[in-house]
Parts: sequence; C-alpha cells; structure tokens
Amino acid sequence: MRAMSNKYYITTPIYYVNDLPHIGHTYSTVAADILKRYHKLLGKDSFLLVGTDENSQKSSEAAGRAGLTTEEYVQEMSTKWEQTWQKLGISYNNFIRTTSEEHKKGVYDFFTLVEKKGDIYKGEYIGLYCKGCEAFVTEKELVDNLCPIHKLPPEEIKEENYFFRLSKYKEDLLKLYQDNPEFIQPESRRREIINYVQNHLEDISISRQGMDWGIPFPTDEKHRIYVWFDALINYLTGIGYGTDDKTFEEYWPANLQIVGKDIIKFHCALWPAMLMSAGLPLPEKIFAHGFFTINGQKIGKSTGNSIDPVRLTEEYGFDALRYYLFTEIKFGGDGDFSEEKLREKYNSDLANGLGNLTARVAKLAENSGGEFQLTQHTFNEASTEEYQQCIENLDFQGALQVIWQIIRSLDKTISDNELWKFKDEELITQLRPLIEDIRKVSIILEPFLPDTAKLLQSHFTGPKINALNPIFPRK
Ligand SMILES: [Zn+2]
Repeated sequence: MRAMSNKYYITTPIYYVNDLPHIGHTYSTVAADILKRYHKLLGKDSFLLVGTDENSQKSSEAAGRAGLTTEEYVQEMSTKWEQTWQKLGISYNNFIRTTSEEHKKGVYDFFTLVEKKGDIYKGEYIGLYCKGCEAFVTEKELVDNLCPIHKLPPEEIKEENYFFRLSKYKEDLLKLYQDNPEFIQPESRRREIINYVQNHLEDISISRQGMDWGIPFPTDEKHRIYVWFDALINYLTGIGYGTDDKTFEEYWPANLQIVGKDIIKFHCALWPAMLMSAGLPLPEKIFAHGFFTINGQKIGKSTGNSIDPVRLTEEYGFDALRYYLFTEIKFGGDGDFSEEKLREKYNSDLANGLGNLTARVAKLAENSGGEFQLTQHTFNEASTEEYQQCIENLDFQGALQVIWQIIRSLDKTISDNELWKFKDEELITQLRPLIEDIRKVSIILEPFLPDTAKLLQSHFTGPKINALNPIFPRK
C-alpha cells in the first residue's frame, strides 16, 4: 500500500506541435482537468501537467513548408496549443515545452543515470520506420505492408544508433503488471501490453544521425536523442526534475497518466523500464482512452473533419462541450462525436434539465419573498459515495448520471407537490430543502461543469434569492 499522500499529480500526453488541437486532444485534456479539479476539491494539492512535443523531425519538415525556421514554427504552434487550453478553461499548473532549457537539463540528468546503469550501448539498426509513429515498426505489425495506424508504407532505415536495453526489463515489467493489476487500464489494454512485452519486447534505438533538430545526444555530437526517449521525460521535467528537486519530490510519482491507446507501448513498457533504469519511482496508473470518430469518420487533417474545440466552445459554452464529451462517451472506449448529438444533449439535459430546474426554483424563491439561511457544505458532504466511487474508477459517465438523477428527482418534487400553488411561509418551507439540494448539486458539478457550478454557487447563496435567467439558452 502506498502511504496516504496529500498530493495528486496527473498528466496528459504532450501533443505534437504540427497538429492543431482537435476534439480528441480536448477529450483527454478535459478528462485530466476533471480529475485535477476533483482532487483539489477533496483538499489535495493537485497538479495538472500539459504541454507540447517539439523535438520531432516532423516539426522541422512542417516549418519548411510554412516558410519558417523550426524555432519560429514551434514557438508559434506551441503558443496556439497553450492558448487553446486557456480558452477552454483547462486548469493546468504547467505547460511543458520539450524545447525548453529546463527540459533539456532534466533529459541530460536522466540520461546520465541510465548510462551509468549500463543500459545504453551502440549498435547497428536495420529497421522499418514509420514517420507517423516516429518509431520503428515490426513486419508483423504491418497490414498490407502499411503501418496500421497511419496507413503509410514504412521506410527501411539502416544506421549506427545508440540503444536502450529495454529487453533487460522484460521480467521486471511482467512482474510490475502482475503485482499491480491496476497499473494499466482499461483491462483490454493491459492484456495487449502483457502480450507485447512477452512476445515482442526488443532493445530500442534512442538516437538518430543526420538530424538538424532535436536534443543533441549527450555523448556523441553526430546524434540527436530519439524523440520518444526525450518526450517521455517531460512528465518529470514538467514538475522540476533536474531544475527544482523540491517540487519534483513533492509530486513525483504521478498518480495517473492519461494517454491515447495508440501510444501505450511507449507509456506502459518503455517508460516504466526507463524509470526502473534511472532508479526512479513508477507512476501509479496509466489509463488509455479510445479514439474518436466524427460522424463515423476517423479524425484527421487529411479527412478535413477535425472539429475545432474553440469554435464549439464559443457556440455552446465550455461546460456544454465537457458535459457532452463525458456523458456521450464512456471513458476508455471509442466514441463518435457529432455536433447534432451535442445540440440534442445540450437542449435535453442542460437547457431543459439543469437550466430549467434552477430557473424554476430561483423564480419560486423570488416570489416567496423569503429569506433563506443556508448551510455551507464541504465537497465531501455534498457528494455521495456513489459519485465519488464513479470518479475514483474513472467512470465519468456514471458520476454525471448520479448528478442528473438528483436533478430529475428535484424536478419531480416540484411537479408532484405543485409548488407553484404555495405562498409565503409554506412555500419557503417547501423550497428550503430544494435550494439546499441545488447547492449540493452545484458543488459536485464543479469538476465537470466548473463555470456553471460557480455561477449557481454564487446565485443560490441566500438569504434573498432572485430570479435567474436561463443558464443554458435553448439552441
Ligand atoms: Zn505509423
């Protein structure tokens, strides 16, 4: 058992700067934001790390196409990513850039530990390399001679590279998965990784020659560090590894690392092996979410159907987008995004459900002319065990269902008791428990719908409660 700790450290993948943020990135980042807010409300010192992966060769190719230097290009793109998370109200604590000096310093410190361990050697590599994955792929993984994820033909590459002794950690990794069944979630991903480590784990090349971009290899100037080996270390440098030991020790190991299912080999096998080699503690849990389609089609620049989360937020509000993403799609599974369904959910659950309830109660409270002395609830008092259990199990859909059951039952109370027929003291007496319940709902809504939660918390404070304009105007 881990000692009870009062911190909660959660990470999202760092995204390639040559992409633009779409609904898939938004999904994993909002999931992390929900958990960060939830643990903060529980009184924990909660830290959310986000960032951009900038050392990829793809950056310099994209810069060339854009007529910029690579430095200019990554600066411009990284700013776009950070602005997107700001516009979407993501409550991140740090935005790590892998081109930053702090990151580079931490990568070198980490490299030194791994090298001292004897886990880095020079060898010749001949392999099939997928530019999309930024990784070598094995013949077995190809489908019709194409990378199954990117549908691209891999290039054959032969060069002298430095290697990390990943295969040395095979037994340790298998033991890790065995002893900690919760380390990789969901269960389907865990089985996939166990199979990969048992049958396909090989040493991995961690340098490239002839590149003009990326972190220089510490012991050989002809090489650059292979992007995955550098990128994974962001989870350490983002909390001060190599530059601020105190902060690093406070937050590491991560409580949860959220990743997409396409990058689990790196996060569930390479990453823990790197940490074992460096002698650092392992993260507690790695959770892989599924892929998104849009109206049934795979998201991609080429298909031209990437949906801009900022545009959706401007139209429906940040909270509505969050609500839709986590009621519609079970976290961990694949999901389909459709703006049509977003609008339906918005009207049925937000405009009608929550919006209508709060407007009705506020109007009745104003009409009653009453004064309401209300109770202050802590987050723990306001939340039910079922709600907390759902979030702890990363069942966001379940937690939202718990909240909406309460909303529906409050609506039913108003209708069943025909509250509009009451007046004065009688009405005030009937309303008081309803208002208390709305206040509780507004507290447990906060991880999911932070803006709405704040608005309701400030409106239903008493003693006088005024009418409230619909918080979700119909679309
Ligand atoms: Zn690929």
